[in-house]
Amino acid sequence: MNKKLIYADHAATTPLMPEALEAMLPFMKGDFGNPSSIHSWARKPREAVREARAAIAMCINAEPEEIFFTSGGTEADNWVVKGSEGGMLVSSYEHHAVLNAVASEARRGRDVVYVRPKVGNGGGYIMPERLSKVWEEGIGLVSVMTANNEIGTINPIHLLSDFAHKHGALFHTDAVQAVGHIPIDVREMGVDFLSASAHKFNGPKGIGFLFMRKGVKLEPLLNGGQQENGIRAGTENVASIIGMATALKINCERMEENAAHLKNLTLRLRDGINRIFPDALYLGDGGVGQLPGFTSVSFPGCTAEGLLHMLDLKGIAVSAGAACDSKNTKISHVLKAVNVTKDIALSTVRITLGAENTIEDVDGIVFALKSLRGKARVARVGF
Ligand code: PLP
Repeated sequence: MNKKLIYADHAATTPLMPEALEAMLPFMKGDFGNPSSIHSWARKPREAVREARAAIAMCINAEPEEIFFTSGGTEADNWVVKGSEGGMLVSSYEHHAVLNAVASEARRGRDVVYVRPKVGNGGGYIMPERLSKVWEEGIGLVSVMTANNEIGTINPIHLLSDFAHKHGALFHTDAVQAVGHIPIDVREMGVDFLSASAHKFNGPKGIGFLFMRKGVKLEPLLNGGQQENGIRAGTENVASIIGMATALKINCERMEENAAHLKNLTLRLRDGINRIFPDALYLGDGGVGQLPGFTSVSFPGCTAEGLLHMLDLKGIAVSAGAACDSKNTKISHVLKAVNVTKDIALSTVRITLGAENTIEDVDGIVFALKSLRGKARVARVGF
């Protein structure tokens, strides 16, 4: 009998929504014209890109002219970091798309200040008080992610952007994990820049967008043709842009329904875990402060890596925040930033459910964990 595969790693990537694929196909077949051409082959793709931009803008309460298509979250983050000026204040648990871009700028002489999230119980958040503690003259850009990709915590972006603006800096948020999953309103958040990536919300891979508030400017990252108002060159990835807009629009329409479904699944999952591992420890907050469907949990006495491989053999996909072999232990910068002990970091598994997951999937994960409990604890011995 074929075992049922259970995908529970939606923070890594999500399956492409069938409606998004349907919407993309015509632009990969007959409607292949270049939107910049003068002849009639350009008309359909150009119009479709215009509509996609407007639909995306509507989902986040922006103007269409404030949406710039990129090759994904990494490019959007790099563009903001490398295209801005002055010193930078960034959180130490940003995705590497921000952190490594910042490090590259630091090597070129720009000043960087890091702010750590609150640690301990209820930790994992960046609060404005923390920004004020590390504030330095000359900071031109503050970058704090909307939601963290390893522990799922959601930051109070409107308070942080307010702080940055009062001190004369621009504010960027990497909202790659949040867009399509929680309400995003760029006006309420008060952000100048916001990065998003389609494959995290059931769109295609290799496409994303940067929201750039009217009136603020960035140096282009890519120079070339006049696409994207002359500041992001390159022929548009038409089919992917259409797929991204379709997926975002549908996910925004279904957001409440999806969140309620994911809340039920997450409660059931945690309930099941608690029965098998009464000492399980959850990172981040299980309430409104964490992304829907997100569970970052430490199974004391187990290695997350061992557990992950054993679950994989059973057809269940999850991920871990730490990797180790007999010589090296690599704990993710996020788990380091929230200051968990090495033992907790090594036993932390990230289970991220998506809208297509079912109660049966959750029960399947719990059942697998139960059957692996003895082995998983043994896997820790000799480490
Ligand atoms: N930022 C965050 C928070 C992410 O989780 C990711 C992807 O894992 C990225 C940026 C990079 O996005 P992309 O894969 O579209 O380059």
